[in-house]
Amino acid sequence: MQVSSSPWRVAVVGSGPSAFYTAEAVFKADPAATVDLFDRLPVPFGLVRGGVAPDHQNIKGVVKVYNKIAANPGFRFFGNVRIGRDLTVADLAAHYHQIVYAFGCESDTKLGIPGEDLAGVYAATDFVGWYNGHPDHREHRFDLQEARTVALVGNGNVAMDVARILLASPDHLAPTDIAGHALATLRTSQVKEVSLLGRRGPAQAAFSPKEIEEIAELPDVDVVVGAADGHVDALSKAWLEKEGARSQQRNAEFLQGQVAHGEGNKPKKLRCRFLVGPTELHGESGRLRSVRVQHMELVADADGTPRPKATGKFEDIEVDLLFKAIGYRGVPCPGVPFDDKKGIVPNVEGRVVENVGGPVRTGHYTAGWCKRGPTGLIGTNSLCAKSTVDAMKADRAGGKVLAPANGDIASVMQGRGIDAVSWADWQRLDAFETAQGQKAGKLREKLVSVTEMMQRIHALRG
Ligand code: NAP
Repeated sequence: MQVSSSPWRVAVVGSGPSAFYTAEAVFKADPAATVDLFDRLPVPFGLVRGGVAPDHQNIKGVVKVYNKIAANPGFRFFGNVRIGRDLTVADLAAHYHQIVYAFGCESDTKLGIPGEDLAGVYAATDFVGWYNGHPDHREHRFDLQEARTVALVGNGNVAMDVARILLASPDHLAPTDIAGHALATLRTSQVKEVSLLGRRGPAQAAFSPKEIEEIAELPDVDVVVGAADGHVDALSKAWLEKEGARSQQRNAEFLQGQVAHGEGNKPKKLRCRFLVGPTELHGESGRLRSVRVQHMELVADADGTPRPKATGKFEDIEVDLLFKAIGYRGVPCPGVPFDDKKGIVPNVEGRVVENVGGPVRTGHYTAGWCKRGPTGLIGTNSLCAKSTVDAMKADRAGGKVLAPANGDIASVMQGRGIDAVSWADWQRLDAFETAQGQKAGKLREKLVSVTEMMQRIHALRG
């Protein structure tokens, strides 16, 4: 049956980059459309607020783009509304032609090795949320006062952020929007050395060149690469020449350059280790003491790509703390299909399917990390959202949309006593946080609990 989908009503679950890029693409396709963004937190922007490091304000500046999208007359924000608690997927389906799940990946990937539950072993995702004042993570405690040495597993850009926050001078962070509790703890930190453990070689490091170069430019930190760690084997050399990205070539060149730099004479060190994979964490009285790593070698897989292979040689590295930075992971949303193996919403080109290989669920879509997994830079989500909206446009043209009743979900929420935060509420809170920050000589002083946020929002409503 052909269903009228005019005006086009779209609900987006989430308010991070992919949610905003979805709204942008919908408005581009039909300026008369309405797009409502729902977030369980009272504040928008997902990982731009809760993930991007506080000393990377140039990246956080992308919110200017999102503010423009929010200025569209068809845009609404409903913060402090959790789908699966306050509203169900069925509620959304009764009010919108199309629903887009863009709730990202909130959890972390586990190493799955013995000792992971020892005191002193942390998920980088918790640390990142903690220093960014994310309400879910404000209660975490990191024992930085007693620790000198840290192992950091994984060498993606999250690992780079964690290394930089652990090693940089707190004065470098003080004028940013770092959470007050985190700055206070970092000021007492005794951490002097971070060992970055990569399971592949220097040519396959997952960080972006400018991220590692930025650490080397910190006034207090040497990036140290031993000769064996910096060695690019023949297989990787051939692979770099044939298909290595420019960033991988630049990483390899930089790391080899650091071999010549040696230990350096700065007080703190980032030691880049390669071809080591953690196999066990050892502790004493329940507290981490060392990490056992297995040395790896690179072997070509069927298409010639170098892959790590265990050598059977082990090494114990004594450390006080260990951070796992091996990736985010999606968590299921009630009423929304979930692929537990990949930790994403199962989909075919953005169209949600009931299960992997199963039928499409008409009117339900996904974008961003919960569509494709936790990879890519912020801009990657723009292309990702556009391709989802292309599928939505095609389905709308073909009449394959939901058949919502003619009501406004705002009145449903009102009827249920749900205290939804509007965009105007957020703008007032934004101005409040900024003003509080200015008083303290910072860009922003974030409120870090939902209760505090809601109390302030009520006060600001007047
Ligand atoms: P990532 O880039 O996928 O890096 C994950 C790292 O963990 C890789 O080094 C990976 O090694 C390693 N790893 C995975 N499983 C492992 C295991 N079982 N044992 C040992 N090592 C393991 O993920 P991410 O750092 O979480 O970043 C997520 C995305 O956000 C990335 O696209 C990143 O670029 C982006 N991001 C960007 C910025 C920025 O632009 N400043 C900041 C933060 C995040 P292999 O490579 O061998 O798989």
